[in-house]
Amino acid sequence: MPIKSRIRTVPHYPKPGIMFRDITTLLKDPTGFRITINELASRYANTKIDIVAGIEARGFIIGAALAYQLGVGFVPIRKQGKLPAATLNQDYSLEYGTDRIEMHIDAISAGDRILLVDDLIATGGTAEAACRLIKRAHGQIVECCFVIDLPDLGGRARLEQQGHTVFALCEFVGD
Ligand code: AMP
Repeated sequence: MPIKSRIRTVPHYPKPGIMFRDITTLLKDPTGFRITINELASRYANTKIDIVAGIEARGFIIGAALAYQLGVGFVPIRKQGKLPAATLNQDYSLEYGTDRIEMHIDAISAGDRILLVDDLIATGGTAEAACRLIKRAHGQIVECCFVIDLPDLGGRARLEQQGHTVFALCEFVGD
């Protein structure tokens, strides 16, 4: 498990009971970073993709490297108030309250084939909101891909129920 074994688990971060899956230990390792991007790039090498869309912030690191490797463009999906030009906004629910992500209105053209990237899928709320943004811009979502899936939290199933395909390089099940 060359990827999973390089991911550090930090218990009780950012609050008690959360097992934080920290990819900084994967990224600082040149072999770890390279195999992460290479595995994703080889999965999509023969798939028509126009844009890799990455979710702030760790999705930028993986997504930008992947876009570069695939030779396609990169679009950032950001937290509220960070993008300078006109945006589409999407609210989504958190455990307490709501959050908002944004994408430039002109980031995607109708019919563009989009690969959505983030470091981790937990409940799937963030990725679902990102998919909504992409669909509202009339993009076509090829797949949602992650370094880590936490299947106990149901995000993969949630996205699959909405007709998306989901891929993750590794899973953490239990604890
Ligand atoms: P969710 O919307 O519940 O699928 O949460 C996904 C987002 O929250 C991703 O951008 C992750 O980076 C972050 N996240 C959620 N849970 C964890 C966790 N246990 N460890 C690290 N990051 C997490």
